[in-house]
Amino acid sequence: MLDADFFRRWMTATAASVAREAGRLTDLDSPIGDADHGANLQRGFTAVTATLEKEAPDTPGAVLVLAGRTLISTVGGASGPLYGTLLRRTGKALGDAAEVSEEEFAVTLRTGVDAVMTLGGAAPGDKTMIDALVPAVDALPDGFAAASAAAEEGAVATTPLQAHKGRASYLGERSIGHQDPGATSASLLIAALQEAATA
Ligand code: ADP
Ligand code: MG
Ligand code: MG
Repeated sequence: MLDADFFRRWMTATAASVAREAGRLTDLDSPIGDADHGANLQRGFTAVTATLEKEAPDTPGAVLVLAGRTLISTVGGASGPLYGTLLRRTGKALGDAAEVSEEEFAVTLRTGVDAVMTLGGAAPGDKTMIDALVPAVDALPDGFAAASAAAEEGAVATTPLQAHKGRASYLGERSIGHQDPGATSASLLIAALQEAATA
């Protein structure tokens, strides 16, 4: 079973990984964006860990709702409201249970990913974070390691795609040949699940 501490560790591990990879995320956002993705997420997840420590929410749902709300209020870029929606909607779907099973989490994370697609209008293949998140939720019933590998593969597979959503879409065909920064950060978020589980 997954408790509030597991979800807190998920957010802390994501914050650490985003801080470690901020330079790479910003570099990926340079040729097809505005070179701020690493800074955006580092600011957001630093605020998430600080808020979680201060407010100490005590259910899985409350941890994710608070994390999502914090991302929405601290990240100015497109990724803030999108990641914020992912976590907030997943958290809402978890309800107020003290512990949730991995199966329940897999179902609720899909609810969150669906909400991101509704908010941003992106479908798989549009070269966005969705290209890592959808394979991840598809693989999640097979465990965190499988989800992590699927997300990473999905992120790498955005390179030959043309962007149809977000800033990169302004470049048209010139967006081809670059890995999407948001799909890359989404793979870090999913990989952090495995770290939270083994911590
Ligand atoms: P901004 O583009 O506002 O500077 P970021 O650089 O933080 O925001 O985030 C860019 C990432 O957000 C993209 O690489 C892409 O993965 C994701 N993104 C942008 N628009 C959308 C959308 N409509 N749906 C899903 N993801 C999106
Ligand atoms: Mg950007
Ligand atoms: Mg920006």
